[in-house]
Amino acid sequence: MQEVYKNIYHLGDSGCSVYLINTHSQDGLVLIDCGMQLNMIKKISKIGLNPMHIKHCIITHFHIDHIGACADLKDYNKQVKFYAHQLDATPIEERGYDRETVASWYGVNYKPVKLAKKFVGEIEILKFGNLEFNCIHTPGHTPGSISVLLEIEGKKVLFGQDLHGPIIPGISNFNDYQNSLRKLLELNADILCEGHFGIFQPASEVQRYINSYIE
Ligand SMILES: [Zn+2]
Ligand SMILES: [Zn+2]
Repeated sequence: MQEVYKNIYHLGDSGCSVYLINTHSQDGLVLIDCGMQLNMIKKISKIGLNPMHIKHCIITHFHIDHIGACADLKDYNKQVKFYAHQLDATPIEERGYDRETVASWYGVNYKPVKLAKKFVGEIEILKFGNLEFNCIHTPGHTPGSISVLLEIEGKKVLFGQDLHGPIIPGISNFNDYQNSLRKLLELNADILCEGHFGIFQPASEVQRYINSYIE
């Protein structure tokens, strides 16, 4: 567990990297994705945070390595609300989409969760405490993939979970993916919190990383 920047933590990796933001407000703690193990999320007690204070979880896309622990988290802490893009909503909310979530490939039985809000726009803002979570539609890897941009004390922190792809036949769209990467470059983020390859900074490193996937 590592503090990436003020009140932003990298909890570790279980399937994907899971990030947590402390809003120091009524909105409590916010997760970016869940990963696959509730136990990893619970370890925040080691740094003095209470897993019962998690109020929101922004889901970047429907893959099992990002959503596997959602139902267990909801069972453990009933007040958690989940958010995702409408184009990825059905496999998150319903059973029978193991091909989309790749749950079958991981040999996992995915338990669905209901979304409190589904994003439809190009950018939708969730305001938790004084923080504005800009949820940006970045389709390609999946139709409803989003990236989350947060500005804290002048630093732009980008949560871009699966910027490396991969492109999955029948699910992904390569042209959309490339356009989304270009859109993310224009944000000029100072810090990139990635889903499988860790944290990149300063801005020049973020640009280099995103550029490496643009053809
Ligand atoms: Zn993915
Ligand atoms: Zn992933």
